[in-house]
Amino acid sequence: MLDVRKIRLILELRELGISNSEVLSAIEKVPREKFINDSFRNQAYENIALPIENNQTISQPYVVARMTELLDVKKNHKVLEIGTGSGYQCAVLSLLARRVYTIERIKNLHESSNIIFEKLKFTNIVSKYDDGNLGWAEQIPFDRIIFTAASKKINNEIFSHVKNDGIIVCPIEKNNKQTLVKYKKQKNQIITEEYDDVLFVPNLQGVV
Ligand code: SAH
Repeated sequence: MLDVRKIRLILELRELGISNSEVLSAIEKVPREKFINDSFRNQAYENIALPIENNQTISQPYVVARMTELLDVKKNHKVLEIGTGSGYQCAVLSLLARRVYTIERIKNLHESSNIIFEKLKFTNIVSKYDDGNLGWAEQIPFDRIIFTAASKKINNEIFSHVKNDGIIVCPIEKNNKQTLVKYKKQKNQIITEEYDDVLFVPNLQGVV
């Protein structure tokens, strides 16, 4: 049953413009139903965001696919994610990258996502309970950084945490609207491109 829904979802993502076959194949491989509560499990392969614990959300599959595609992840890349949440986006990235470092500010979510990573044997994920706006100093530089919570602006210092030719993708909030922004660091200049309008939970400071 889930398989039929999964195939339908992949077709829908293609129709919506996701063309990177590695991204689609990673979405196909990660069991989204394992990252959500039992009560929502029958909606796991619908193209919608769903609630997770602590009033947070697991992102819509289209948005996960879109952000992953924009991030242009290669097999040898070291990726940082800010906002582990359910762990789903991180799991998708882990199939495309060498290693994914992920930070979550809510202890409960940090712990529950870790349990899922272990159960499903996602062994190239390293996670930390912290405020991700400060990055992960011991692990810089990264090839790619992804924020999965909406910020008004990203901390300038984060740009020094990606290598030259590095990419940062972040939902940016401006005039009550959120847009996916891709920052490319080229010859130490930052090139900014704007993409889809999105709806993310806010990036908040400190830990709880
Ligand atoms: N990538 C997640 C999306 C979860 S929603 C998924 O696939 O499920 C965004 C998450 O970002 C929430 O869990 C929220 O607690 C976390 N978050 C918000 N601000 C943060 C910060 N400054 N540092 C770390 N995590 C943060």
